[in-house]
Amino acid sequence: MTAMLPYGRHSVTEDDIAAVAGVLRGDWLTTGPQVEAFEADLAAWTGGAGCATVSNGTAALHVAYAAAGVGPGDEVIVPPMTFVATASSAVALGAKVVFADVEEDTFTLDPAAAAAGTTSRTRVVSAVDYAGHPADYDALRAALGGHDALLLADAAHSIGASYKGRPVGSLADLTTLSFFPTKNLTTAEGGAVVSPHPELLKRARRFRGVGVVRERDEQRWPDEGGWHQEVHEFGLNYRLPDVLCALGRSQLRRLGEFLTRRDHLVARYDEALADLPGIRLPGRRAWARPAWHLYPIRVLDGRRREVYDRMRAAGIGVQVNYIPVHWHPAFADLGYRRGSCPVAESFYSQQLSLPLYPGLSDADQDRVIDALATALRAGSVRSAA
Ligand SMILES: *Cc1c(COP(=O)(O)O)cnc(C)c1O
Repeated sequence: MTAMLPYGRHSVTEDDIAAVAGVLRGDWLTTGPQVEAFEADLAAWTGGAGCATVSNGTAALHVAYAAAGVGPGDEVIVPPMTFVATASSAVALGAKVVFADVEEDTFTLDPAAAAAGTTSRTRVVSAVDYAGHPADYDALRAALGGHDALLLADAAHSIGASYKGRPVGSLADLTTLSFFPTKNLTTAEGGAVVSPHPELLKRARRFRGVGVVRERDEQRWPDEGGWHQEVHEFGLNYRLPDVLCALGRSQLRRLGEFLTRRDHLVARYDEALADLPGIRLPGRRAWARPAWHLYPIRVLDGRRREVYDRMRAAGIGVQVNYIPVHWHPAFADLGYRRGSCPVAESFYSQQLSLPLYPGLSDADQDRVIDALATALRAGSVRSAA
């Protein structure tokens, strides 16, 4: 029996392994030269916006919100069509999350909904580049109006994408990345905070490094001795070690190839599924050059669960991305109610992610397409009988 095809998977080569082994033989396992080198390599993908690597994408969000000064009394606007961390990391800092609905075609944060939720208490508006399709950043910037809130891009899906010709990383005040194995490149666990604003990036680096101030000219008591260090604001240890930064640098060399392969597979899905009744294919705006991370279809007629089960039984590891964040019991217990974001909630009830990753062969993709066609047909035969 063939193994279950996953919905996402890393692609690791002998070169990646050699890069990691090289660091393990050297002097710096962490806080060494690979960290800055990976950060510099990443900045080539973010239009030059500065990058601070961190231990995972959830940490990146926690660090970014901390850098933005998010705390008790502040509100953070988040779309519910995302991984829970986009919201829960703001809760961890004592903020109140305000959920705002998504657009009907891209399922990214709706600028009108963001504007409606923005008040003088709003500290950050967080967009999510769902499936690798950038949110509408110019419209979101306008939605901030006169409020001095910051714009954050959760770009866990979208490194390498661009919006109106501008790369992800340069579009928001703070951008967060994840290098989990299913994402567009991997360091096993890993992530980064990106910002074109040096002051925000500096605050991010401080929080990542336990808040320690080593720069003598910034210390309150600089004449204590050579060993002296100070903490002015509390932080955590969210560093990404050299071992993993070396893996990231090696992976980054193939990011262009990965994205080309993802584009190829998306074009094949678009063509093969175009005339299949009972589903809708992902939308795309003219101004977007997505970095497709997911291939999210919609299964119509209330058949998502049945199609999910049939695909899984056929060895196709389809996934559902995502349970609306405000439906999680932790948010329900805080008083958040179902029905508040109808576009995201209705999308969730239909959503199904088909396998998409660079190592997916055309032949395996054809198996996915056949299994989907069979699953859809099976149901319609039964309902006709
Ligand atoms: C994966 C992901 C995260 C969290 O990243 P981790 O590296 O898994 O902590 C955050 N937001 C989105 C949209 C993600 O897909």
